[in-house]
Amino acid sequence: MPLKNLREMPWIGERPVLDVANTVVVGAGHAGDDVDLLAEPDLMASWREKVCDRELADLPMEDLAELRAPVRVALDAAARQAPLPGPARARLNALAARAPVTFRVDDAGRLTEQEAGGSVAAAVARQALVLAAGPEQARLRRCPAPSCGMFFLARRRDQAWCSIGCGNRARAARRSEQCAD
Ligand SMILES: [Zn+2]
Repeated sequence: MPLKNLREMPWIGERPVLDVANTVVVGAGHAGDDVDLLAEPDLMASWREKVCDRELADLPMEDLAELRAPVRVALDAAARQAPLPGPARARLNALAARAPVTFRVDDAGRLTEQEAGGSVAAAVARQALVLAAGPEQARLRRCPAPSCGMFFLARRRDQAWCSIGCGNRARAARRSEQCAD
């Protein structure tokens, strides 16, 4: 199933850290190889339009690639409930230190977290650490459907696929495998 655009990619544009991580579509190439958005100018242009953060959309390719590597390593480990590999953890820790957060209490007495500056790359690194080791880690999954491999946050405990389309494709693939036996 060759991939021509990102229209059928509902996961792009939800949060910067997932936008960075979900730039490789597993097994979606002509020969069943992975499609790397960073290596496909048309798909990259489409990605830059869809992402939610303008600073992220404008990040140079080299910076994106450099940021993506430890983010994907960390999320991949976290989605398998495995410990974060040391080098990726060290890299993300160092980057995240450049995007501190502060806290303030608003007029209604609510405690709120506030970004206190830093680049979008540093903010994405912090989000990756929070996702990989914070309370949402239990909901972090990697979609096992054919032509996907996206990281997503499960909305239900038994949610196996990132989207309805992926669930349908995975079931169809399973049926055709059974027929071939
Ligand atoms: Zn999927």
